[in-house]
Amino acid sequence: MITKNIVFLLLGSNLGERLQVLRSAVELIEEQIGQIKSASSVYETAPWGVLDQPAFLNQVIELQTVLDPEEVLRIILAIEQELGRVRYERWGARVIDIDILYFQDLILDSARLTIPHPRLHERRFTLAPLAEIAPDFIHPVFHKSSAQLLAVCTDNSEVKLFS
Ligand code: ADP
Ligand code: MG
Repeated sequence: MITKNIVFLLLGSNLGERLQVLRSAVELIEEQIGQIKSASSVYETAPWGVLDQPAFLNQVIELQTVLDPEEVLRIILAIEQELGRVRYERWGARVIDIDILYFQDLILDSARLTIPHPRLHERRFTLAPLAEIAPDFIHPVFHKSSAQLLAVCTDNSEVKLFS
């Protein structure tokens, strides 16, 4: 039997038709990476890092895939391109950003890819949607659940339900 792995992705958009961009991204991800098992609400979140930019919409999705992490990365970067992402600056405004949060309980640190995502535990805009759909999923490095990570997160940037 082919092994299917659980992957959590974070989607973010703060330029253009943000909600439509997220929907298009989810559609392309389902076509190209695997079946969506659950999707969080969409949250409107204050920018992080570079503060002088529009608010983001963020959503976390859980999917099952037969692909390996490098293949998932290659496809999400291609989907970002397809949806018109232009990279202006690190952490700056973008039509779409797709990050791999978790890939099963894999721990990986290569030049191109770090899993779990190295900043997920520092960011309320990641932990709030993640804890909504997977409160009990355990971070394989910190051995804490999403709910526990959210409870101790010191990031106080605004994160509110959007839809
Ligand atoms: P950020 O998401 O921090 O704003 P980018 O989206 O511009 O930055 O990502 C730049 C690079 O980060 C990608 O080309 C990819 O090689 C690398 N990267 C490392 N770990 C991950 C991960 N877990 N998910 C997505 N990209 C990652
Ligand atoms: Mg990214």
